[in-house]
Amino acid sequence: MWLQIPSPSEININYWDERLQYLPRLCKLTFPFIVPQKNDEITHISKEFVDIFFGFESKMQNPQKRKVSFYNPLNYLIQKNEAITDCWMICDVDDVHQTVSQFLITYIYDRISKIGQDGKDNPNIASIICYNFASSGNCQNSNCQMHHVSPTPLLLFQRQKLARLQYTVVRQLDVLYRHGLLCKEILNLQNWWAENLVKCHLRYHSPHTSCPEVTYMALANLPIHVRDGLINEVYKTMLFNKSKNANDFEVMLKYILVIQQLRDKTVIDEFYREMSKTKILSHPNDLTVGFEYYCGNFQAIPIGRYLSQFFSFLYNNKVISAIISSKSFINYSLKNIKQVNLISSDALGDLTSLVEFTTSLIFTVGQEYCDLCLPRAYLINYFEAFNAKPLIPVRYTYSRKNYLSAINNSIDQVQQLLDLLFCKEQAYLTIILRLIRLLILIGLNESKFVQNILNLFKHIISKYDIFSTKIKKYLKEDDFTSLEIILHNDLKEKFCDSLVIVHHRCISKSKFAFFEKNGVKRLTYNSIEEFRSSLRKIISSVTEIPEDKLALLDSLVES
Ligand SMILES: [Zn+2]
Ligand SMILES: [Zn+2]
Repeated sequence: MWLQIPSPSEININYWDERLQYLPRLCKLTFPFIVPQKNDEITHISKEFVDIFFGFESKMQNPQKRKVSFYNPLNYLIQKNEAITDCWMICDVDDVHQTVSQFLITYIYDRISKIGQDGKDNPNIASIICYNFASSGNCQNSNCQMHHVSPTPLLLFQRQKLARLQYTVVRQLDVLYRHGLLCKEILNLQNWWAENLVKCHLRYHSPHTSCPEVTYMALANLPIHVRDGLINEVYKTMLFNKSKNANDFEVMLKYILVIQQLRDKTVIDEFYREMSKTKILSHPNDLTVGFEYYCGNFQAIPIGRYLSQFFSFLYNNKVISAIISSKSFINYSLKNIKQVNLISSDALGDLTSLVEFTTSLIFTVGQEYCDLCLPRAYLINYFEAFNAKPLIPVRYTYSRKNYLSAINNSIDQVQQLLDLLFCKEQAYLTIILRLIRLLILIGLNESKFVQNILNLFKHIISKYDIFSTKIKKYLKEDDFTSLEIILHNDLKEKFCDSLVIVHHRCISKSKFAFFEKNGVKRLTYNSIEEFRSSLRKIISSVTEIPEDKLALLDSLVES
């Protein structure tokens, strides 16, 4: 009985939290001794530690010497001793320091690597939330490895807090590693947890299992050195594999989206430089996947350049150029989906994020003053956390004709993607739903396309044998107003998302005013600051996260 290892569901969040809290404290206390930063403090700290471990009675007349009792548990670790008298040995003070230090390193290393290993079995930090369980309360798959919980913003907050702490703890070893006190293997552990943070906590999955405001609170709360470490790891992995990554869009999208979340412009600039490097072809037939011709047929440049341009243009508020770049990248991806390694559900989810991001940008530049209806998750992921400038009338806008053709092209891309995904409906369920919701958002924001979208839904339902009742509910509805209501209720089901009317003050009456009666919140603004503060009020009213906690987002956004 007492040997029973608790099953994952018994691993209590509070227990784990306490276990983790204790380690950074231990490191904070001991690191100044193990790897002292300032010379003048060394002797002082060193003395205190030796006193703690060997007692005051170990002091001798000569400050360079200490006497150590045979009964002291650390005595066997001391290599050199000069003289032995009954129960005491006389040692050099540096040897004693060395011994205590070595003991602490081993102790800390053991504790942290143990928690690093054990954590891999804790579903709160190391598993993705199961969408099937989250949406219906049961999961048919008996081998399902995912976390079976019903998510709420609070639960997601606890999960992310724990994951953030876990990563912070594992990263403590980095200090010792950089001083040459630990072997290279600890990097594997750190990389594993960096990957895990991205995969299970930072990456957006679906409105039922992800909550962007919670993600950004977690990011804003990362200690600076941990955040830098994460960027470094993400960045290094991305760049180290760059030679083989020109055709691996899964890797490229994954890392660039994390960098976007962490808002690190230097990495985006570096990525841009990397993706602008051309290579010489000895023959035009040598063009490989992930490259296109550049200035004739004897030079090639990575397609990833379009992705890097998307972010660079956005930073400079060149929204239309950004949209064009992104569309070129998406287009190439759709035509070469297998060759560029966009197969896994995670990879296609990231591509879907890019499609959502791009389409919502089209809405913003379709008119001088914005009057839009978008999910809160879009507003946070694509505007608040990155660049809210496209919402403010200091940027070029589309002509009506170009605006409509840009949207038309988005619908086209979504349709192509859906055609690829419906072959494996079960595996891609959450992504299919995201794309269907996006189509409804398009009709909602530009009524000219309502009929196209209803026709597209009819076409899909006649073409595929659809399994999911949720998808069917959307596709079978032939009244667009009802579709809007279904979307509204679907998004807010878990409180992790909801529709928001984004209304610039210069427009007297929002065209979505009718929607407010159904409980859709309206965000009125005329500056970026007002956009942010109104968004925060809305988040706080829906998720019950206190407004002052959300203010933490600012530190991330404005850094
Ligand atoms: Zn999922
Ligand atoms: Zn499951």
